[in-house]
Amino acid sequence: MAGLEFYAGIPGAIGGALTMNAGCYGAETKDVLVSAWGLNRAGERVDYQLADFGYTYRHSEAPADIIWIEATYRGRPDDPAAVQARMTAITERRETTQPIREKTGGSTFKNPEGHSSWKLVDDAGWRGKAFGGAKFSELHSNFMINFADATAADIEGLGEAVRADVKDKFGVDLQWEIRRIGRPA
Ligand SMILES: Cc1cc2nc3c(=O)[nH]c(=O)nc-3n(C[C@H](O)[C@H](O)[C@H](O)COP(=O)(O)OP(=O)(O)OC[C@H]3O[C@@H](n4cnc5c(N)ncnc54)[C@H](O)[C@@H]3O)c2cc1C
Repeated sequence: MAGLEFYAGIPGAIGGALTMNAGCYGAETKDVLVSAWGLNRAGERVDYQLADFGYTYRHSEAPADIIWIEATYRGRPDDPAAVQARMTAITERRETTQPIREKTGGSTFKNPEGHSSWKLVDDAGWRGKAFGGAKFSELHSNFMINFADATAADIEGLGEAVRADVKDKFGVDLQWEIRRIGRPA
């Protein structure tokens, strides 16, 4: 079973991680979560076990009106120094492979089954290409960067242009990660 170290590489809070089934480097929230509770719009407490979340890749089936308050995780006991070393390695790997100091929302597209989004974006020729104030990072081609006061239209326009091009060239439908546009009702 995975430990909780992978969270060291993911910015954000637990509420978002529960909703997104956040994960990286081979481990996801679903590998370590036991249960969580939250409040619905009526102010009622709802209790969820892991299975109730219906987790798939970066997605939960939980109703969008629940605000998660607290979660219980099961980690894997290990030597604290070994855990710290793994967290440091994850953080260092991030620093060298992703533009985490830039204005970015992280991964732009989900990885389609059997493909890596960064490679599709790269192979289609979009690494480093800009539209208005938004561009795909030279360092990691699935990270979009706001490098010059990008508008929402710049970001959406660039992303949709890439989606159309990748579909045209490789027949693959890239899907936006939902967090940037809010959760569907
Ligand atoms: C540089 C960078 C790198 C990233 N790398 C990764 C990665 O490797 N793996 C990965 O999975 N993600 C990654 N992300 C995306 C994001 O940081 C994570 O998915 C994170 O877990 C989202 O948490 P958040 O608290 O920021 O949520 P937000 O982005 O604020 O919200 C995400 C979704 O969760 C909902 N939500 C937030 N809090 C609650 C709550 N308490 N109750 C109910 N719903 C809630 C929001 O409405 C939204 O739909 C990256 C982002 C950046 C900027």
